[in-house]
Amino acid sequence: MYYEKKRLIAIDPADCDCTECIVGEYVPLRSATEEQIALMLRGKLRDNTSTPLRVSAQWELYGPRPDEQHLVSVQVVAELWDGNVLTWDLTNHLDVVPGQVFGSPHD
Ligand SMILES: [Zn+2]
Repeated sequence: MYYEKKRLIAIDPADCDCTECIVGEYVPLRSATEEQIALMLRGKLRDNTSTPLRVSAQWELYGPRPDEQHLVSVQVVAELWDGNVLTWDLTNHLDVVPGQVFGSPHD
């Protein structure tokens, strides 16, 4: 029997097991992938997590001036009600951060 995979539309609280999470319309935060977290930060997935997320970004200089920086990594941390800490490394999804410098500094 074939079940069509539902299109993901939201990220739910960490331990959610509602019907939407079971059929794949939502995903519990604890199971969310880096890509899904990135999509949520871009507003492509709804944030139903009820969980504060801490986003930290690291830039490096590629030239002598302070505005010559590029983004090298983004980490997202969620501290859950039960004391567990979830982290996602969005370094492969750096286009989540608006206003960043893209591409090679010498383009
Ligand atoms: Zn759910």
